[in-house]
Amino acid sequence: MNKPLVVITGASSGFGAEIAKLFNQEDYPMLLLGRRKEKIMKLPLNFEKVVVDSVDVTDGEAFKNSIKEAEAVYGPTDLLINNAGVMLLGNVQNQEPNEWKTMIDTNVLGVLNGMQAVLTNMKDRKHGTIINMSSLAGRKTFVNHAAYVASKFGVHGLSETVREEVSSYNVRVSLVAPGAAETELLTHVTDQQALSDYEAWKDTMGGFTMNPVHVAEAVKFIYDMPQEVNIREIDIAATRQDG
Ligand code: NDP
Repeated sequence: MNKPLVVITGASSGFGAEIAKLFNQEDYPMLLLGRRKEKIMKLPLNFEKVVVDSVDVTDGEAFKNSIKEAEAVYGPTDLLINNAGVMLLGNVQNQEPNEWKTMIDTNVLGVLNGMQAVLTNMKDRKHGTIINMSSLAGRKTFVNHAAYVASKFGVHGLSETVREEVSSYNVRVSLVAPGAAETELLTHVTDQQALSDYEAWKDTMGGFTMNPVHVAEAVKFIYDMPQEVNIREIDIAATRQDG
């Protein structure tokens, strides 16, 4: 039987790239989104049933159109993984407000854009799963993370709200909340002090954090449960992470 379409945002690196590899190994047709299309094209995937599109998740229209085009080929989206996100560490007292806006636009509005693009169809079909990538920073506070924490508490709040709204339609909304992991996330931080504080914190964990593969495995585990079972949230972090 043909497998249904899986849409992954932020597939060009980190968690998204690892999630794409896992679903590709099981032959799912996929729509992989990110602004750096060329980076996705270099992933070690079998691209036979993979559509790659350069989409900024903050552009709701482009996001919806891209999904529509992939669905015209592979049928309705059965799994949307809203993974794209940015973490620009900084102290509220001196951080550029543009950085707050980038985080809220990407981490919160980007997730809402994705959900809006697929929810009607999932409700009509009484089938489908949305997994939003939040963070432990969506459950607790971290110094120098104020705007990021605000965005990820937002992801937690909106996910649980929509979960309640669509549960009676047999549609699953789930969350993964990872701790620190080895991805490109830190490479966009401009505040050098916040960055070195983060590195010092990492040193307390032996200098390395979680392999992103395990976050991808958690995502796959959620999806692989039968449709009538919804793992509402997985919190996953390196054993040595204290906070
Ligand atoms: P990476 O920086 O490696 O990946 C982030 C991905 O998001 C990239 O593929 C990037 O693609 C994409 N992205 C960023 N902005 C946009 C945008 N506007 N439109 C489309 N795609 C975008 O980091 P991670 O893999 O770590 O991050 C993935 C998610 O995991 C994020 O939501 C992050 O907040 C969350 N997270 C990460 C943790 C960590 O320690 N690594 C811990 C907890 C949560 P491109 O630049 O090509 O657009």
